[in-house]
Amino acid sequence: MTHPVLSALGLTENESGTFLGNGQWSATKDAGVLEPVNPTTGEVLGRVYASSQGDYDTIVERAQAVFKVWRTTPAPRRGEAIRLCADALRTHKDALGSLVALEMGKSKPEGDGEVQEMIDIGEFAVGLSRQLYGLTMHSERPGHRMYEQWHPIGIVGVISAFNFPVAVWAWNSFVAAICGDITIWKPSPKTPLSAIAAMKICNEALKKGGFPDIFFLFNDAGSELAQQFVDDKRVPLISFTGSTKVGRMVGERVAQRMGRSLLELGGNNAIIVDQTADLKLAIPAIVFGAVGTAGQRCTTTRRLFVHESMYDEVLGKLVTAYKQVEGKIGDPTDPKNLMGPLNSQDGVNAYLDAVEKAKAAGGKIETGGAAIEGKGNFVLPTIVTGLTNDAQIVQHETFAPILYVMKFKTIDEAIDMQNAVPQGLSSAIFTTNLKAAEAFLAASGSDCGIANVNIGTSGAEIGGAFGGEKETGGGRESGSDSWKAYMRRQTNTINYSDSLPLAQGIKFDL
Ligand code: NAD
Repeated sequence: MTHPVLSALGLTENESGTFLGNGQWSATKDAGVLEPVNPTTGEVLGRVYASSQGDYDTIVERAQAVFKVWRTTPAPRRGEAIRLCADALRTHKDALGSLVALEMGKSKPEGDGEVQEMIDIGEFAVGLSRQLYGLTMHSERPGHRMYEQWHPIGIVGVISAFNFPVAVWAWNSFVAAICGDITIWKPSPKTPLSAIAAMKICNEALKKGGFPDIFFLFNDAGSELAQQFVDDKRVPLISFTGSTKVGRMVGERVAQRMGRSLLELGGNNAIIVDQTADLKLAIPAIVFGAVGTAGQRCTTTRRLFVHESMYDEVLGKLVTAYKQVEGKIGDPTDPKNLMGPLNSQDGVNAYLDAVEKAKAAGGKIETGGAAIEGKGNFVLPTIVTGLTNDAQIVQHETFAPILYVMKFKTIDEAIDMQNAVPQGLSSAIFTTNLKAAEAFLAASGSDCGIANVNIGTSGAEIGGAFGGEKETGGGRESGSDSWKAYMRRQTNTINYSDSLPLAQGIKFDL
């Protein structure tokens, strides 16, 4: 029987995973099947027919054709299309939020929050559609005017991760759309139903508004089409969200063909708690950051540095809080639960492997450290002490609720340790000392793309540019001026004089 959450969105148990444009979903049934699983129960939620080579070819050809129309559609009119998508998402927020929670395994408020992010970025994009500003510069030559303008880049390829199955697509595709681009999306094979539902909602809104199909979707049974996508010269920008391992390969291959990539990869985020910190703020921020979404956010708190004078108190409070969470692990769609499952059995295996490695390196499990017997991919939230920041397992992002707690003596030492990992996504300090806060935010402070004071590492508002440094990939998306990644810049010089002065005063007498 079709799950009621699917029915609420007009989805059945058997869905095509390919939107071909021109209002058409593919009829392909022989290119493989994806079977997304409810991580809470292990039951298969539905069957999604994967895309064929022919589907992929059709998508890229149609995307190229519609780009020719879309790039000359005035940007504020493009904004109107996205306004309709955001409105439609508002109407379907409850149902889509429930599907995201069900398929990914996050809580219902987090599922709804993800759809709210889509709505927010949609509205941000509508405003942006009237603000794609270029600069005007003073020419060094008389009778000349010089300025820059931003043009659409073309087809934007979006490859997304399982943990934010719909918001990452909206971050990219809504901003790309107002920039005049067409988006082709390859979602995670673990969450294809959420992707199909999001596409259907937005397609319907575009159709009602009389707009062409500007969003395309394909699902890959393996990774052959995804690799082809990465190598496809007709796709000038690949925006990839996922692990550093796959992202590194994507970045290298896109660079090989001189394409552009926007990489949003793994994090190894830390919180520093100094001796002046307000623990009323710090403890809940650490617990939410480490345990929320069962540790499956790119911004999850994975390392904690506590001033030696506060160490015992902070550790004691955390262990108490973790024990409370342990009593509230279960179906994430039940509002009384604070922690849901890991998305897959692979995730549970990676968690168990990390716990073993931590123990083998001399780590002490203060709480947690085991999977929960029975149905679903449930594990205990875990705190490990006794390891140093340079331990191999601490340097590595394990996508699970494991927190490594370490001591420090001076703020400089804490900042050095926070920076001494390959990743550079999110970071935070809890302090009431102005000097410590400013040291953390200074050029010699945190080396991450996100640095917070008295709020945790996890989660971000859409208004800021989101992304990180080093092995996190360097990409920025969502707010601020991230839109520039989806456009090409052109510098224009216009000579309205009667002479032809050369730049730098060069003479070329004929
Ligand atoms: P993943 O790297 O396993 O998969 C990401 C995507 O890459 C999926 O769509 C997958 O199908 C695709 N893929 C796999 N092999 C490919 C190939 N050879 N060519 C092209 N595409 C291929 O990541 P995941 O397990 O889905 O997500 C978890 C990871 O994502 C974590 O490391 C997390 O930190 C990261 N993440 C980062 C951000 C960010 O903004 N920095 C946000 C969310 C998740």
